[in-house]
Amino acid sequence: MAGDNLDHFCPRDGSLLIPPEDSDLGAYLRYGAYHCDTCAGMLLNSKAAESTFCADKLNHMHEGFTEEGTEVDLDCPFCDSHMRVRKFSFQKIDGKLTEPIEIDGCPVCASFWLDAGELQKLSPPVNGEGRIPRIEANALAVVLEVLLQLPIILL
Ligand SMILES: [Zn+2]
Ligand SMILES: [Zn+2]
Repeated sequence: MAGDNLDHFCPRDGSLLIPPEDSDLGAYLRYGAYHCDTCAGMLLNSKAAESTFCADKLNHMHEGFTEEGTEVDLDCPFCDSHMRVRKFSFQKIDGKLTEPIEIDGCPVCASFWLDAGELQKLSPPVNGEGRIPRIEANALAVVLEVLLQLPIILL
């Protein structure tokens, strides 16, 4: 059930988001990830996720947004609800926590928005200055897939 055949737009710059099935990597399909070729941001949606493991992970993350979180001026690209922001860390194999990153989540439909800059805190840009958003988005999708295998800690 990848995608819903509707167009979704980047909540930051209004660009048409690239649906998971039109992306270069399997990671996008597994997580139901749409990405923006303008800002390299990424939108995850639990219903669009092909992998049950990934959908479960996203639904777990969603619990952190249904009652809590700070409302932000960002509309959910799937359902137009006001999104909320929270900080998360991932627990590495050695037990240490990664640097916290901010994730915007929809309190209604289990969608999440990740700015490229947030993931870059955990992994530096692959192609430095003048980076190409599509290549950057692919690199970030790989980072994200590795991270989401780890326990996620709500801060
Ligand atoms: Zn964008
Ligand atoms: Zn939503």
